[in-house]
Parts: sequence; structure tokens; C-alpha cells
Amino acid sequence: MSLLDEFDSIRALSDALHARRLSAHELTTSALQAARAYSDPNLFLHIDESLSLAQAQAADALLAGGQAPALTGIPIAHKDLFVTRGWRTTAASRMLADYVSPFDATVVARLSDAGAVSLGKVSCDEFAMGSGNENAASGPVQNPWDPTVVPGGSSGGSAAAVAAGLVLGATGTDTGGSVRQPAALCGVSGIKPTYGTISRYGIIAYASSLDQAGPIARSARDLLLLLDTMSGFDPMDSTSLETCDQVPNLPGRIQAAFDQADAYFNTQGSQPLAGLRIGVPKEFFNAGLSDQVARATESALRVFESLGATRVSISLPRTELAIPTYYVIAPAEASSNLSRYDGVRYGYRTEHYTDLADMTSRSRTEGFGEEVRRRILVGTYVLSHGYYDAYYLQAQRVRRMIVDDFQKALGGQCDVIMGPVTPNVARPIGDNRQDPIADWLADIYTLGVSLAGLPAMSIPCGFSHGTHPLPIGLQIVGNYFDEGRLLALADRFQQATDWHQRKPGQQ
Ligand code: GLN
Repeated sequence: MSLLDEFDSIRALSDALHARRLSAHELTTSALQAARAYSDPNLFLHIDESLSLAQAQAADALLAGGQAPALTGIPIAHKDLFVTRGWRTTAASRMLADYVSPFDATVVARLSDAGAVSLGKVSCDEFAMGSGNENAASGPVQNPWDPTVVPGGSSGGSAAAVAAGLVLGATGTDTGGSVRQPAALCGVSGIKPTYGTISRYGIIAYASSLDQAGPIARSARDLLLLLDTMSGFDPMDSTSLETCDQVPNLPGRIQAAFDQADAYFNTQGSQPLAGLRIGVPKEFFNAGLSDQVARATESALRVFESLGATRVSISLPRTELAIPTYYVIAPAEASSNLSRYDGVRYGYRTEHYTDLADMTSRSRTEGFGEEVRRRILVGTYVLSHGYYDAYYLQAQRVRRMIVDDFQKALGGQCDVIMGPVTPNVARPIGDNRQDPIADWLADIYTLGVSLAGLPAMSIPCGFSHGTHPLPIGLQIVGNYFDEGRLLALADRFQQATDWHQRKPGQQ
């Protein structure tokens, strides 16, 4: 039991902290105890009580002053891909087992400047490569709904920590679905904003043209608080957006867009979403989609219709091509990004070697896990002379077509796109060990959105049947810079349903 259990939302907890009904210090102490005592030892990779309590003390001082931001004293967890001063950052890899960064990632700095208290670092797939949080050097993470199934990945630790009630918010990163997919499989909410909205500075790089951070929390309203704080232009990241369509990318932008959309919905009476056109891609309802996910998606769409929205059928003809396109581009970028781990400048170095080449090769073979080595080999191959044109260049061309497909839909046919996040509910731990490509195929609904750099979220929309019901997520995709409205739409859904309030063990 932790004091956090008494609160369903960041907002409610924030009110209690601001009213001084509890102190950040007592809350943090209790949350740290719960995190330490939690049944899955692989979830937290690093906890440091003294660092967290120092932040809590600073939060209490801020709260006593009366001008504290909303996140002051709120315990959060960071995916172990964000570098943190003081706390170890390992990317869940043996390669970085002892790495402590001299600086904080911009996201980490922004959240701590806003008063949030870090409870520590949570597991993920090694270097964010994976879909089940099984590719972590320290071992797989369990899904709080059923310890025999995966929590999703790569931000599996972040989603599991929120679902288990150990924190009310966590940071994640999404390169091809790693915020949306674990959020869906753990029954929590997650959003990946427009590429360039959140600084990548201090996020250990996987595939730089796709990597984008995003928060995971219970509800759209909690996501809003976190996202608005995390986002904004950062000169330290060359791909950080300063403006888009004349809108400056400043903190406060997403909150303002949310408020505007929300105020508009309020003028519409019992049909708040009247006029909203939801595009439903026919390719998302393919043979690979399980019946239970299809059914939950359908009932969620009906809820949106009951709120006044209309449904239009659209086509994203390159949905299937997103898989090979992504699994050429992402490994290509990864092979380049990960070349820095050479046993000399960074990280793990083998003990026995004969010469420099042998040392580099052994260090990388021993330091990286199997999936990471697979990606590096694929990436090096598709970039190599003779294959570059056939694979990498071709993939870039298809990426452009995928962008155009989304723009055709969102540029006139519909206002938002909705569909499933995953073809199925969470699978048993260890199930795809013999067939790693099976996980790649299950990324089908999230990859295109990432290739296009669009904002997208996942919200809980139902459960599977059976002895252990498992959560199902609904994906909502918007046009560039539309995250404020997406959150406002998701919030209306969450006012009409209670899927996001269900907790493991209480279903
Ligand atoms: N499952 C995808 C991959 O392994 C996505 C991972 C991610 O978004 N970080 O690349």
C-alpha cells in the first residue's frame, strides 16, 4: 500500500499537495517503499532514496511558498533511456551497466524544474529495440494485469509502473510505437506528440529521425499536464521544432490548444463532438486483427459517435509496407547511432583481447544483447555499398509515400484517424523467442504514424475475455501539432467511459 493509492489522477494528488493535506516528503517515502517492495524485481532498474527525497524536500519548500507549479511533488518514473544526473542510465543494456550521465536530458530537467519528483529509472527494451520489454539485460518485465504476459515495449517499465500504481506518470519514448503499444497492453494512456515537439537532447539515440518522447499516465488530463511540461523548443536538439504553421512550440501551447478545443466542445451541448470526422482506415481491420481487439475498437468508435462524431472510411494503402520500411530505416539509423559504443569511448569493455579490432568486436558482442546485434547487422547491411539503393533509398521513398497517404486522409477526408494499436492483447513472456520477426509484424498499426512523424495516442477501450482479462487500447492519430485537440477528444471519451479507471486485481 502506498499513499498514492488514494489518488486516481495527478490533478487530485496535486490538489492535495497544494492544500498541504500531505507533504511531498511523506508521499515520496511511501511511494519509494512501495516501489522497493513491488513483486517484479525487474521493473525498477535504479532507485536512489536520497536523490528522490532531496527532490521531495525541494518540492515541499516550493509548495510552502504558494506559487508551486501543478506537478510539484508528483512522483514520476523515467524510462532508462533518458540520461539523468546522479541516477544510473543503462538503456537496459550491459553496454552501459555503470553509466552515470554528467547532465540531465531536457525532458528530465523540465519535469524536475516543474517540481516533479523522480522515483527512479524503469526498465525498457535494450536501446528501445523491442515490443515486449523482454530485451532488457536485467530480464523481462511483467504485465501488472497478469505476470505471465509482457507489458509491451519498449517503454514497458513505464507503462507497468503506472498500471501497477507505483507512479501516476512516467516518461517513455516512441520510435515505432513504444509509448502507444505498452500503454495499450497495460491499460493506461500514452501520447507521442508530433516529431520535434519534445527535445531529444539526452535521450539515448535509437533511430534519430523517428525517436520522440512521450508521457504515460492514467488519463488524457494527466497526459496533458506532463506533455505540456515536457514539450517545447530546445536549441540543444537540431530537430526540435521552433514553430509549425506559425504556431510557436512553447510550453503552454498544448494546454492552450486543449482548452480551446474543450471550450468549443462545451458549446455543442449533448453532442460535443458534432462535426468531427473520424477516419477509420480499412487496412487496419485486416486478417491479422484479433476479434476481441476489433470488437473493443468498434465499441469505442460507437462511443465517439454517440458524442456526435461521424465515421468515414479511409484508406492508408501502404499500411503493410510500413513494416519493411521501418525495419530498414530504424536499424540503419541504429547501426550508425550505436557505433559510438566501441569499448573505448563509452561503456563496457571486454577483459580479454589481442588487438584493437578484437577488443572492439568482443566488447560489442558481449555488451549488446541479441536483438540489438540483429538490428546493427541489418542496419549495416542495408547501408552498405551495393545494397544502399535497393534497401535504404527505396525505404526512404516509401516513407515519403506513407507521409502523403496520411496527408491525403487528414488533409480533407477526416479530422482524426482511429483504429487499433495492436493486433492482439499482450502475449505470454517468452512466446516469440524462436521467432523475433513475429514482434516486428505486430507493430503494423503504429509504424506508419511514426514514419510520418504524426502525433498519436493510445487510450484504454476494453478488455479481452477469459480468466485473466487483458487491456485493449484505442489509437487516435491527428495531424501535425494537433496533440491538444487529440487530448481533448480522448478526455471526452474518458468522461463517457471508465476503462482508464480500472486497476489490476480489481476487474
Ligand atoms: N517495436 C519497435 C522496434 O522494436 C518500436 C520500438 C520503439 O518505438 N522504440 O523498433
